[in-house]
Amino acid sequence: MTPEPPADPPSPDQAVLTIDLDAIAANYRTLLQRLSPSCALGTVVKADAYGLGMARVAPALAAAGCKHFFVADLGEATALRRILANVEIFVFNGPVAPSVKEAAAAFDEYRLIPILNEPQQVEAWGDLARHQARREGRETALQVDTGMNRLGHSLSDFERLAAEAHRLESIRLCLLISHLACADLPEHPLNARQLADFKAALALTRRAPGSLANSSGIFLGPEYHFAMARAGAALYGINPVPGAPNPMRRVVRLESRILQLREIDSPMTVGYGATYRATGPRRIATIAVGYADGYLRSLSNEGSAFFANIRVPVVGRVSMDYITLDVSGIPAGHIRPGDRVELIGEHHGIDDLAEEAGTIAYEILTTLGSRYGRVYVGGSA
Ligand SMILES: *Cc1c(COP(=O)(O)O)cnc(C)c1O
Repeated sequence: MTPEPPADPPSPDQAVLTIDLDAIAANYRTLLQRLSPSCALGTVVKADAYGLGMARVAPALAAAGCKHFFVADLGEATALRRILANVEIFVFNGPVAPSVKEAAAAFDEYRLIPILNEPQQVEAWGDLARHQARREGRETALQVDTGMNRLGHSLSDFERLAAEAHRLESIRLCLLISHLACADLPEHPLNARQLADFKAALALTRRAPGSLANSSGIFLGPEYHFAMARAGAALYGINPVPGAPNPMRRVVRLESRILQLREIDSPMTVGYGATYRATGPRRIATIAVGYADGYLRSLSNEGSAFFANIRVPVVGRVSMDYITLDVSGIPAGHIRPGDRVELIGEHHGIDDLAEEAGTIAYEILTTLGSRYGRVYVGGSA
């Protein structure tokens, strides 16, 4: 695996975000192995592939064999279509009011599959198909809400829809989806309730293919798999089974160089608000990463980084462009400006950083900053 040259080589003071496309492909294969041969693995590349860059990630997934992609909105879908000509693209939002008709034209032009979430969308979509006198109907997916209470037909709306056969006539139902609220909590009773409701909804469709599981849902067992799973997080290295060892490969590495070192002593403080007070001699390293880069401010006095194998805690507040690390544990002479510090990597993964920040790794990835030098390794470079 040789690093390819980035478009603009990172400048020495720039933090470098390395994204391993081979690890994403390996994670795709790992998830695929957990599914039966008749179950497809769709991949979710919304939000710029969870912050990692859809333009590079999606082709790597297609090269690994993925044929079904999911995005949230129309803009993401048209961008993806320009990247990949011959894959299925599902759009979670579907064509949205008040311009269902205009959106529908774009779905047509870019060969996108809308996921319709309410009866009005189904009606408008069906009307369009009838206007175009399409005998076979348009390929369409539907979402039924089984407990998220976020998007999708309510169970009663869905039952009504299924009972009125003419409503489904002008669309060709190619996938019925629902979304789990607690897939990362295997013991939660809502999982079994959502599974039962989804099965009941699916039974009303006369054998439409079903899709219920996200990344964590894949690990709930084969009864959650149906015809297609929809994985995002696990592909990008987020642990789909919190509390158990992460079965996925690490995808992201973030490292930066030390800008400056200083010695301080009690009663000096560090950073805005003087929230960290030295209780004795301390050596402080300043790193050019801050909340403007998505290094969340909640990591103030909570986050940590690694210098070689040694944990170095964030002291003081995270500011816009900088963090300060207590590197007192490293003997003088063994650390100097220009040395690299690992912020995310093998010693300190995205889930670890997320826990320190009081959030989830999904948020860590999707807020990764635009100032980082980005280096892609692996893939079909
Ligand atoms: C984001 C999303 C997914 C992917 O979930 P992960 O936990 O990232 O695997 C699947 N389905 C829907 C409806 C989503 O919104």
